[in-house]
Amino acid sequence: MTRRVLIIGAGLTGLALANGLRRAGDIEVTVVEQAPVITEAGWAISLTDRHLEALRHLGLVLRDLTADPLARTIMFDPNTSVPVRITAMDGVVTTRSELQLWLWGPVGDLVRTGITAVTINDSGPHVEVAFSDGTSGEFDAVVGADGINSWTRRTVFGGPDPTYAGSAVVRFQVPNTGGLDLAAMTSDGRLGLFVLNGGTTLHGVVFLPGEPDNNRDRTLTELAEGYGDLRGPLASLVKAMRTEPVGFYANINQVVTDKWAAGRIALAGDAAHAMSPRLGQGAGVGLQDAAVLSELLTLPDLPAPVALAGYAGIRRPAAQLVQQRSHAATLRIGQAGAALELHTLANSGAAGSG
Ligand SMILES: Cc1cc2nc3c(=O)[nH]c(=O)nc-3n(C[C@H](O)[C@H](O)[C@H](O)COP(=O)(O)OP(=O)(O)OC[C@H]3O[C@@H](n4cnc5c(N)ncnc54)[C@H](O)[C@@H]3O)c2cc1C
Repeated sequence: MTRRVLIIGAGLTGLALANGLRRAGDIEVTVVEQAPVITEAGWAISLTDRHLEALRHLGLVLRDLTADPLARTIMFDPNTSVPVRITAMDGVVTTRSELQLWLWGPVGDLVRTGITAVTINDSGPHVEVAFSDGTSGEFDAVVGADGINSWTRRTVFGGPDPTYAGSAVVRFQVPNTGGLDLAAMTSDGRLGLFVLNGGTTLHGVVFLPGEPDNNRDRTLTELAEGYGDLRGPLASLVKAMRTEPVGFYANINQVVTDKWAAGRIALAGDAAHAMSPRLGQGAGVGLQDAAVLSELLTLPDLPAPVALAGYAGIRRPAAQLVQQRSHAATLRIGQAGAALELHTLANSGAAGSG
């Protein structure tokens, strides 16, 4: 019998899962997305080889997507500008909106936009869901891929709410007029850049460890104070900060929960494990969730609740380890040498499969 799967949320995780399930065949997939249209969320997404492997598993090969190689990062002492480490990292960097549209392409016809679930009831043999447009449906499995403020997590699992992870961050983008082709960061982890959009754009980040909302009112020019003596590639970024490009300020929040699955309902992506972007892993870990979910939900003769319990058991430890490492790295921002282990952590086995 055809299995009916509802995915709540057409972000990176939900769309990746829809791709995997559609490719597998005998699954009727419905995706509901609250937003009427996809809009630019203003940030860059790095994907390591492990995440690209998850995409391949879902039948998705990076093609026709603007993705810049993220091959190496040079760390500079913030006081002396002396380069202190060059780290290798196998991966690419792209923009969230472009990745989302790329994932949307093969499954857009499955997505009902401008709609949310309003009630959900797991009756045992199936899940009954009512939607905000007055329609309703019965499903064999429901996956809440509805992001850090997940309605599914709140409604089905009773929370928890996101908590502050110890730093805020400001992101901004400026033209790459100097033709830089590397990633660079101060070794205390506060200031960094990488290139984006086919090498035409510098994506800058300023991490602001401390209380929530610290330095929220400061302009980028003010945040550039203290970096005036920096030489090398980061000096271009500091110069660009003084031109006051549009900056996006955010407190970094995370979601830590052991409640990933119950009966026929499960959480995936940020809904299950939103994490600090410090190690650039959040989206990729969601893609890995989608790959495992897609594989288990399409196994023959395996009841959906059993598949979802297996998914949670396999993915939760791996995802939580990456989350813990991301959080620990966030708490070290500002300390001497804080950034030096970044890519070792990001590329270590713990960031990976499951
Ligand atoms: C500043 C910053 C930088 C980051 N950098 C990186 C990085 O370099 N590398 C990396 O891997 N990750 C990074 N991340 C994390 C990454 O963006 C997220 O982990 C990823 O987008 C999560 O995808 P998702 O699909 O699980 O959730 P989301 O992308 O949040 O998607 C959830 C979707 O569900 C929809 N939705 C919400 N509620 C409902 C509802 N009730 N009904 C229907 N639809 C709903 C939303 O509109 C949205 O489309 C970063 C995050 C931030 C904040």
